[in-house]
Amino acid sequence: MTIINVMVPFRLIKQIDDYSRIINEILKHDISFNILKFSTSSGGINLLLDVPESKIDTITTSLRKNDIYVNRKGRVLVDEDLCINCGACVSLCPTDALHFRDDDSVQFKEDKCIGCLICIDSCPRGAIEESK
Ligand code: SF4
Ligand code: SF4
Repeated sequence: MTIINVMVPFRLIKQIDDYSRIINEILKHDISFNILKFSTSSGGINLLLDVPESKIDTITTSLRKNDIYVNRKGRVLVDEDLCINCGACVSLCPTDALHFRDDDSVQFKEDKCIGCLICIDSCPRGAIEESK
């Protein structure tokens, strides 16, 4: 299984049926998956999904056809010049991709990042951005 982050822009969500449509879009390919996390951000609703590696391309194509954003691992950039090591992102990161070094500075390890994007809105300095 592989973790992907799916972001459904608010403009696409008008009623609960729209959310069901997205889930059905995945299920119609006869794929079983786990919803690990459901959260909101400034752009829309974020779903952290655990899906079979072999089905990633099918799911991604299907969701993107419906204007839904799909991200995979390692999708943020951290500007260490802007960072003030406040730790707000560290406390939210589910994988320790953002963590404190022994000298209390914050380090980002891209190989641990699952692209959940939770950290972006937490940063008071705008030091974290989604990688394009
Ligand atoms: S996007 Fe941010 S919070 Fe999510 S895993 Fe990567 S570094 Fe951690
Ligand atoms: S929230 Fe921003 S300023 Fe604070 S430690 Fe994380 S990257 Fe640095």
